[in-house]
Amino acid sequence: MPWEIVRPDDGLPAARRSVRCRACGKELTFTVYSVTGTGRRQARWRASAWGGLGTLVAGVAVLFSGAIVGVGVALVIAGPILGLVFGTAASDEVGISGHGNGFPVTNAKHSVTASPPPHDLPDLTCTRCGHMEEFPRAAYFRDDYVREQYEAARDRFARHVCLASGGTGPK
Ligand SMILES: [Zn+2]
Ligand SMILES: [Zn+2]
Repeated sequence: MPWEIVRPDDGLPAARRSVRCRACGKELTFTVYSVTGTGRRQARWRASAWGGLGTLVAGVAVLFSGAIVGVGVALVIAGPILGLVFGTAASDEVGISGHGNGFPVTNAKHSVTASPPPHDLPDLTCTRCGHMEEFPRAAYFRDDYVREQYEAARDRFARHVCLASGGTGPK
C-alpha cells in the first residue's frame, strides 16, 4: 500500500515513523533516514561488497601460496557471495529500516520500497518557438523545493520573449 513519509532533514538523526499494515492491522514502526544518511548507508554496503572482493583475492593468494588449501577454497567461495549480498543490499537500501527491511537476504513480511519521487511536472516548452524553461527536477531534490522552482520557472516561461511571434511574448 502507498505510504507517504517525510524524511528528517539532512544532518538530523534518523526518525521513527509508524504506519498501520492494511493486511494484518499491525502498527509498525520504521526508522527513516535523511537523504544524506541514506547515501551513507548505501556507501557502507558498497564498502562491504568491496570487502567481499578482497576476501576472494585473499583466498586466491592463500591457494597460490599452497599454505592452507581448505582456507583458500573457503575464502574463494565466500568472497563472491559476500560481494553479491552486500552489493544487492547497497542497491536495495532506501534509508528505511525495521521489521527486516534494509537487511540483506531477508524476505521481510513487512518491507518498504521507495517509489520514484513524484517530480512528474510537465515540461515548460513553447510549442511555437521551442524555447524550453529549465528547472531543477533531479530525484534527490525535495518535492517542495522542486515545486517552488517549477513555479518560478513557470512565471519566467509566461514572460518569455517568443521568437515565433515576432519577439512580443506569448499572447
Ligand atoms: Zn501486516
Ligand atoms: Zn516561444
